Amino acid sequence: VKTLILFFLILPTSFAQNIDYARKVVNTLASPECWGRGYTRDGMKKAADYLVTELESAKMLPLDPNGFRLSFTMPINTFPGSMQVSINGKVLVPGRDFLVTAKSRGLKASGNLVQTDASHFADASHSLTVSIEDKLTWSARGTVDTGTTIQLNKASLTEIPSTFEISIENEFVPDFAAANIATLVKGTVHPDEFILMSAHYDHLGGMGTTTYFPGANDNASGTAALLDLARYYSIHPQPYSMVFVFFAAEEAGLVGSKYFVEHPPIDLKKIEFVMNLDLLGNGDQGATLVNATEFKSEFEALKKINTDGKFLPVLYPRGKAPNSDHYWFSEHGVPAFFLYTMGGPPYYHDINDRSEVLPFSRYESVFKLLVGFNTALQDQSTN
Ligand SMILES: [Zn+2]
Repeated sequence: VKTLILFFLILPTSFAQNIDYARKVVNTLASPECWGRGYTRDGMKKAADYLVTELESAKMLPLDPNGFRLSFTMPINTFPGSMQVSINGKVLVPGRDFLVTAKSRGLKASGNLVQTDASHFADASHSLTVSIEDKLTWSARGTVDTGTTIQLNKASLTEIPSTFEISIENEFVPDFAAANIATLVKGTVHPDEFILMSAHYDHLGGMGTTTYFPGANDNASGTAALLDLARYYSIHPQPYSMVFVFFAAEEAGLVGSKYFVEHPPIDLKKIEFVMNLDLLGNGDQGATLVNATEFKSEFEALKKINTDGKFLPVLYPRGKAPNSDHYWFSEHGVPAFFLYTMGGPPYYHDINDRSEVLPFSRYESVFKLLVGFNTALQDQSTN
């Protein structure tokens, strides 16, 4: 009787996707503790440690015999300290009312602004530019400008900006330590042929001491799905070896995936296909496949699986685009798709991309579509 009960307890998680688990992963990765999985407060490292712990507790194998972490260093401009901006004497809230652009150098000054065009103001003596934006969208950069650019949220302004008082600290880190995390489920028939699935686990990090960017949709959602898929395949090994790579530093310019293809731990020629997952939290309006026009027969196969399974309302084909970690693979001759879901809240690279507002409404559909596609890839190749 005991064995039977155990069997039924294990059944739901081992046979399919586990939305509760994926939710838990998103909540952890998007929490203040991980501080936007970026470049201050050890955010990215904390996220990496969490992923490794999850893989270890699922008894998964590292892709590299030396461990799950494939380490590298990179330059990055960070904002670990003061982040104060007042315009016309009014103190603004970082993230909500203003952003400092990622390439900006720090500045401690006050003065007057001169309008330079409809949406820009400047103080040339301090190399300061102020731009008025309909939406605040942050990024991450590995270089520093000679000046400082502040983006002001139009909705937060009541009058034309004329005076400023700014105290912003930046710290350029030339050799920030980051790591891709890679795990493997050995193939049962063709262990030396690979299907690689990926998702970047980093996000933008924090801006000052009180503001961080949660990145629930971008890309805690894809990271959670990838962990769930890795755990699923560890219970269901495939004819081909399945590789799962959690990329670091995607937001800083696809840095982690570039490092991976330039220092490949496996022969790139042995990778049958790469499926990169980013922005997986929606799907009520379908999904887009970058590189669909490059790999037409694979896209047709994916569409058929989607239609047969009634998974997502529509799959949009898109051409080549250097907009996520699939890019370096297809540039190196490895067939690759990048799938991102459509619909849901418009939060992107801002403080509102929080786990509380992540729909994850098509999680099960996306998971099943991906599993179906992986099966089709292997059927095709073994025939
Ligand atoms: Zn992303």
